[in-house]
Amino acid sequence: MCLFKNFFKKLFCCDLKKTIIFFFIILLIPAVFTGSNLIGLEKHLYGQSLEEELENVKKERQETKQKIEEAKKQEASELKEVKAVETELLASLSQLDDLNDRMSKAKSAIDQSTIKMVLQEQELKKIEGELDQKFAVLNTRVASIYKNGSTNILEILLKADDFIEFVSRIKLMNLLASQDAEILKEIKDKRAANLNIKKIILDLRDMQKQKKAEIEKLVSDAEKKQREIENIYDEKSSILARTRANKNALLALEKEFEIKEAEITRILESYKYGNAPGEKFLWPVAGYLKSGFGYRVHPIFGYRRFHSGVDLVAPSGTLVKAADGGDVIQAGYDGGYGYSVVIYHGGGFATWYAHLSRILVSVGQRVERGQVVGLVGATGWATGPHLHFEVRINGVAQNPLGFLQ
Ligand SMILES: [Zn+2]
Repeated sequence: MCLFKNFFKKLFCCDLKKTIIFFFIILLIPAVFTGSNLIGLEKHLYGQSLEEELENVKKERQETKQKIEEAKKQEASELKEVKAVETELLASLSQLDDLNDRMSKAKSAIDQSTIKMVLQEQELKKIEGELDQKFAVLNTRVASIYKNGSTNILEILLKADDFIEFVSRIKLMNLLASQDAEILKEIKDKRAANLNIKKIILDLRDMQKQKKAEIEKLVSDAEKKQREIENIYDEKSSILARTRANKNALLALEKEFEIKEAEITRILESYKYGNAPGEKFLWPVAGYLKSGFGYRVHPIFGYRRFHSGVDLVAPSGTLVKAADGGDVIQAGYDGGYGYSVVIYHGGGFATWYAHLSRILVSVGQRVERGQVVGLVGATGWATGPHLHFEVRINGVAQNPLGFLQ
């Protein structure tokens, strides 16, 4: 019975306060919340049967499932893109690493060449010094030999004591001359060789500098490319995150529809309980019909709204009787309806008795046709003592006059 109680509490929301609050909520709730517990609540406001609502919920659930499938496909394709960019990013990072490695090697090579060049320059200076000395010695000697002309040479030669000494002096002279020539050649060669080595080192250094500049350009290009890839990666990742959030929202929505579908199905199942009343309802109170079923200007609030039952005017304390036998599924104070009772008769049929001054039954109680369930009053929003009486089939308000004897 609890099931019915909750269900009818939810269904009989024609009470003004609830309706106002309800419409207020509906106006405020953004479309995204259609998946909340309020799904279809407005549809209970007259006209739509639970079967119709179930169909709608099923349809909406199916649509949501399709959207989830689309979101999953989108997610998969975006994930693929992100992975591809990730791979590209890793490749670019590794390339950048290689280039930086090459760059540091190039720098080190230049440093080595610089050191080599400095050493070579020192060596060159040292050799130049030695050569200068040799050159100076040679100069002095050549100067002393040739200063006084060939007579002096003859003198030196002629001063020899004997022929053997004469010959050996000539040999010595020749030897000195050839040594001078050798020294001159040596000086020339060493200078040339040194200059050549210096040139080679300088060329090597220039080449290394050029290579370094090329690598620097490559590094800068690679860094630029990497930044570009990083930007693409960030962009694609955030798109993927949005798609995932959307998918999760859809999954939650689908879950809501599933719950709603199960709830309505359960209620519809429960309607199979019992049979529809076999005869027309008893008039629940001896009174006169003041206000009928349908749209009317509300007696308190003064604007047009739907009246989901009939108002039967009778003095306060008049007995209110069950229109037919059934189970009491609601008995208590309920907002604008004041003290009210709902009886479920079977086959989806229920009757509602509102604005009572007293309730004489309790939830779960079985009542007979014509059994007193309460007394007429004016609790809730009522201008005076009367019974507000409703007939509902599967939760949908019907015109009671069509069902009364
Ligand atoms: Zn009424």
